[in-house]
Amino acid sequence: MNFADTELVLGVLTNNGFGVTKELTDANVILLNTCSIRENAEQRIYGRLENLKKIKKEKPETIIGIIGCMAERLRKSLIEEKKIVDVVVGPDEYRRLPEFIDTALGGEKGIGVKLSRTETYDDIQPYREEGLSAWISVMRGCDKFCTFCVVPFTRGRERSRSLSTIISEIENLSQRGFKEITLLGQNVNSYNDDHYDFADLLASSAKVDSNIRIRFTTSHPQDLSEKLLYTIAENSNICNYIHLPVQSGSNRILELMNRTYTIEHYLNLIDKARRIIPNVSFSTDIIAGFPTETIDDYLMTIDVMQKVRYDGAYMFKYSPREGTKAFNMIDDVSEETKGKRLNNIIELQQKISFEINQSQIGTEEVVLVEGFSKKSDQHFSGRTDSNKVVVFPKNDEIKLGDYVKVKINSATSGTLLGELKINGTLI
Ligand code: SAM
Ligand code: SF4
Repeated sequence: MNFADTELVLGVLTNNGFGVTKELTDANVILLNTCSIRENAEQRIYGRLENLKKIKKEKPETIIGIIGCMAERLRKSLIEEKKIVDVVVGPDEYRRLPEFIDTALGGEKGIGVKLSRTETYDDIQPYREEGLSAWISVMRGCDKFCTFCVVPFTRGRERSRSLSTIISEIENLSQRGFKEITLLGQNVNSYNDDHYDFADLLASSAKVDSNIRIRFTTSHPQDLSEKLLYTIAENSNICNYIHLPVQSGSNRILELMNRTYTIEHYLNLIDKARRIIPNVSFSTDIIAGFPTETIDDYLMTIDVMQKVRYDGAYMFKYSPREGTKAFNMIDDVSEETKGKRLNNIIELQQKISFEINQSQIGTEEVVLVEGFSKKSDQHFSGRTDSNKVVVFPKNDEIKLGDYVKVKINSATSGTLLGELKINGTLI
């Protein structure tokens, strides 16, 4: 999401006469796009600011700005404590960035941190370099207020972009040769433009170009409709892959988290999706060590992982965030226990991913060729519909952006290795 926002910010700036440089030392303006979701994300930015002190010392006229969630959350302390910061702009004030940079050039601090109930940047063309994959934010903010999460406070209330401008953006990306588009939102299932819901948006997106793969993230388990599952099943270029964060396997913890579903509802949803979409795969988010989590609660999370058998997972230690409801709960799980539980969860997920990948050996997968293997430029790398990385020997008849069939010969927990079968298209 921050990657998409960075493209948006570059769109605003390039429309206002700014250019882009890849060299930090050439820049007149350096903006750090920030995330507040966990403590360590913020710590990394403080580290970056330390590194930028040298540039500011050598070139004091360089404007340094913090944009995104940290700007929203820490506006005052950033300005007061981090003397090198000239600009602080939150996620709903990017339109005015040129103005805030001007203010900073005039010697004052440029600060814009108002949240909006309507801003969707619908009319702003993001700055995108040529490539195969693009992200499109279809909505902003979040109304769910999970008790651990800072997003509703840093990114404001939920609002959707219009379906028509999203489709025009996909048409433009199709003409430019993009092959994969990911529709983004904190809870895409509650997308709503007049009488269009997210299933309508997905179906319209898929129709633009049958050679473009459509992905989406994130789905909240409370709002994932049957209509959406059928839409995925009926459109071959909508990927059979659903990121469905579970967070915990314990109903008591889910309630404390204000996740608004039970584990029974969640598992039913998984079953339903598997019935409607053959070969669907799932990934998830899991938090270890939420306040009051007992060994039994943690074992219930392990149980859900064993029942669902996710293809992949993002797994985190609970990180208390000031201003959230959970911040006031007693954080009574020790760091050591959180760490141990997280490690066990990661280990189990690796084992499951390895087993699932092993079961792919001998199958033929349609792969979008996206680049070269990290380890060797004699091997192509791409992904399957279910988002698995596939590496196979390079072939001169194949170019990046082609869809090819690859026979899988071996697998690790993160990668499938195979050989080329035939060149093909998605349909
Ligand atoms: N909107 C998405 C959803 O609810 O599924 C997730 C958005 S959030 C940016 C990504 C993930 O970060 C969450 O699913 C959660 O697992 C994790 N997360 C959020 N707040 C956290 C916290 N305070 N401590 C640890 N993990 C957190
Ligand atoms: Fe945060 Fe919950 Fe909204 Fe996701 S749904 S962004 S976890 S409040």
